[in-house]
Amino acid sequence: MIYDLAVVGGGINGVGIAADAAGRGLSVLLVEMGDLASGTSSYSSKLVHGGLRYLEHFEFRLVRKSLQEREVLLARAPHIIWPLRFVLPQGPGGRSSLLLRAGLFLYDHLGSRERIPGSSAVDLTRDPAGRPLRRDLASGFTYWDCHVDDARLVVLNARAAADKGAAIKTRTRVEAIIAEGIEWRIALNGVGGKCEVRARALVNAAGPWTQDVASRFGGDQSRVKEAIRLVKGSHIVVPRIAGAQDAYLCQSTDGRVVFAIPYEKRFTLIGTTDVPFSGDPSDAEIDEDEQGYLIGLANQYFAQPLARADIVWSFSGVRSLYDGSRSANVSSVSRDYHFELNAEPGRPPLLTVLGGKLTTYRRLAETGLARLAPSIPQMGPAWTANATLPGGDLGEVSLPGFVQRLCRTRPAFDPEYLDRLARCYGTRVDNVLGDARRESDLGAALGGGLTEREVCYLNQHEWASEPDDVLWRRTKCGLHMTVDERRWAAEKIAKFL
Ligand SMILES: Cc1cc2nc3c(=O)[nH]c(=O)nc-3n(C[C@H](O)[C@H](O)[C@H](O)COP(=O)(O)OP(=O)(O)OC[C@H]3O[C@@H](n4cnc5c(N)ncnc54)[C@H](O)[C@@H]3O)c2cc1C
Repeated sequence: MIYDLAVVGGGINGVGIAADAAGRGLSVLLVEMGDLASGTSSYSSKLVHGGLRYLEHFEFRLVRKSLQEREVLLARAPHIIWPLRFVLPQGPGGRSSLLLRAGLFLYDHLGSRERIPGSSAVDLTRDPAGRPLRRDLASGFTYWDCHVDDARLVVLNARAAADKGAAIKTRTRVEAIIAEGIEWRIALNGVGGKCEVRARALVNAAGPWTQDVASRFGGDQSRVKEAIRLVKGSHIVVPRIAGAQDAYLCQSTDGRVVFAIPYEKRFTLIGTTDVPFSGDPSDAEIDEDEQGYLIGLANQYFAQPLARADIVWSFSGVRSLYDGSRSANVSSVSRDYHFELNAEPGRPPLLTVLGGKLTTYRRLAETGLARLAPSIPQMGPAWTANATLPGGDLGEVSLPGFVQRLCRTRPAFDPEYLDRLARCYGTRVDNVLGDARRESDLGAALGGGLTEREVCYLNQHEWASEPDDVLWRRTKCGLHMTVDERRWAAEKIAKFL
């Protein structure tokens, strides 16, 4: 079989393009060397946001596009994306009140806002948002962005692609790519061994591995190699900072900002750093300086002192940024996306994706396919702006309303458990629970609230094939377990994969 389009990379950009292309009637193959979202896309700050900070770099176009997408994505996937209030305390060495006001005014008005509230000034001596903060932080601002379950955003896009007929091959590496006439011949190495597939068009969406994939082509890819800048960003997870129910934006005296975000009910997620990176992105991990930086900055803002010993989990991801101008400061390099298109007559087209954000993945996919459209005449029109992601069709009901309804229809289940499932699967929760009337109907209990039935669902419908795919990406149950509990759960889960 010859595919119309092959996509290399099962991060957000690859699955976004695969889903969009499959919905336009193309036969699509997506190849991912590890698990879906096992690259940068599950190591983000988990925000669908306009990027307030980018205004300082005059990136009005990117902020506007991102703010617009914030509304679009919230409507497409309200089960895994929800509004989050940010508190921006005015600390010593931070930006002036005038600058913050001006920035927030722009942020409120640059993109259309339908469901997401605007900003306001806040008296931190009176508002409950001030309670977790140090006493000297008396005033500030609040504004809104959205939290997203990044790994599930990827998996649900892969599910959407497969629902539209795309083939998704995980744990399969693209080893070589050769142009033969007007087709690509792609050598794959995966769980079933080595094989070769053919495609009429190709997308390189390998994130920080884009250069590595580019080097697997016969042709000259030096432009791609020169334009990419790799930057590592790390986060730490600590037990929930007492009273911190909102997200906080902490400003460092060097102009950078760090988020402290309420995470997974019991935790606070703190990040990110920005460190130039070279080497294999799979090896990226937090170093002592980054830990010290994040803890030090949090301690300048929060009353409850944090220490390294409080870190329960940390993770690092590598951004591949498009940097035509080779800026000295990595924090100022644009987070916008960029494409390189090779579409000479008589050769199969190749689209290389550079940069991008979770927030803009849908627009990236739409724009990328528009660039490929002249080479693929059978491609249908754009369709994703008004289509929900799997499980996102909550209708007029809000997510809390949906959870309440679920609790009424499944009264014997623990409401906390149903709340977790609703935030993973949305309306597809019924596909997971099936005819079960109580938790004991869901097969073996595998720890951390996981059951045999959920794991089998993840294996059959969401490509989970190793315990970590379940514990850390399809769910975050791993975070709620001790090391011993995780080991035990992994052994049990493996039996159902
Ligand atoms: C610290 C940090 C915080 C961030 N926070 C946010 C945020 O809050 N909001 C936001 O909007 N954006 C955020 N971003 C940006 C966002 O995470 C990235 O832009 C996005 O995840 C990139 O997705 P991708 O698909 O390009 O890359 P990836 O997710 O890395 O996917 C590329 C995939 O290609 C696969 N691959 C590589 N080589 C091969 C091969 N030879 N064969 C097969 N497969 C291959 C890899 O395994 C990988 O899964 C953040 C980024 C970082 C680093």
